Amino acid sequence: MNHTITSRERHRCASRRIPGWLSGTLVMGAFAALIVAEARRPLRRKTEPKLGRDLRNLAVAALSAATLRTLETPVVEPLSRLVERRRFGLLQWLRPPRWLELPLAVALMDYTLYVWHVLTHRVPFLWRLHVVHHADLDLSATTALRFHFAEMAVSVPYRAAQVALLGVGPRALSVWQTLLFTSILFHHSNLRLPVRLERRLVPFIVTPRMHGIHHSIVEEETNSNWSSGLTVWDRLHGTLRLDVPQRRVTIGVPAWREPVEVTLSRILAMPFRRQPPGFVLPDGRRPRRGRLPALERVFPRA
Ligand SMILES: [Zn+2]
Repeated sequence: MNHTITSRERHRCASRRIPGWLSGTLVMGAFAALIVAEARRPLRRKTEPKLGRDLRNLAVAALSAATLRTLETPVVEPLSRLVERRRFGLLQWLRPPRWLELPLAVALMDYTLYVWHVLTHRVPFLWRLHVVHHADLDLSATTALRFHFAEMAVSVPYRAAQVALLGVGPRALSVWQTLLFTSILFHHSNLRLPVRLERRLVPFIVTPRMHGIHHSIVEEETNSNWSSGLTVWDRLHGTLRLDVPQRRVTIGVPAWREPVEVTLSRILAMPFRRQPPGFVLPDGRRPRRGRLPALERVFPRA
C-alpha cells in the first residue's frame, strides 16, 4: 500500500512538459491552416495590403519571442518544476483527483489571463504597451502574435505569480501555453466561419466574430470580450458582447487611423511616446455605435 502511494507521489512530482515538437506542430499547423483559410473565406474587408502588414506583425512577434525566451522561459519553467516539487500553490494544496488536475490548472490559468487582459486595458501604463496590439488596422492570425516586446517583458512577474500561486506544474503549463497559442491564432483570424457554427462555438470558446468586437474603435466594444480561451469569464463578469455585426466594426484604435501612423518603427516606439487621448478620433469625435438590429443578439448579419 505504502509502495503504491510512494510511486504515485513520485509520478505526481515528475510531470513533464509536452514535447516541444508536438506543441510546435500543433501551433504551426494551426497557423498555416488559418493563413490558407482566411485567404479563402475572409470575414472582414482589409484596410492595408496584407503582405506588408503580415511581415510587420511577424517582425514585432520575433522581438516578442526573443524577449519571452530571454526573460520568461528561464523564470517560469524552473518555477513550475519548483512549485510541483515543493507542493506550493493552490492546486498543490487542494490536491484534486488526477483527472481534474490538468483541466483545473488550464481553466485557472485562462481565468487569471482574463484578469491580466483587463488590467492591460485599465492600467494606463499597461495600455500604453497593449495598444500596439490594438493599433493594427486589420485583424488576422498575425495580429495574434503582434505584442510589443515591452508588454511581454512586464508580463513576466504576473506569469510567474500565476504559476506560483496557482501551483501549476510543467505539464499543465505547457498544455495551457499550447492551447492558448492555438486559441489566440484562431480568434484573431480573419476567417469567416458559417455564422451558425460560430453561434454554437461561442458559448464555450472565443471565436473570430467575438474577438473582432474587442478590437473595435468604439470604447464600450473594446471594453468587452476580454477572454482568451473560454468565454465563461466574460459571462461571469458581464463583459460579453455579441450584438455587433462584424461589417460595422472598425478595427483599431481611434487615434491612429492611417497606415503611415502604424509603420513598424512607429509601433515599436508607440509605448515610449506621448499618448493621445484615449478613444478619441483625430478630429476630436468619440466613435459611437448607432442603433443595433434588435432581432438577432448573437452575431447579427446586418
Ligand atoms: Zn485587448
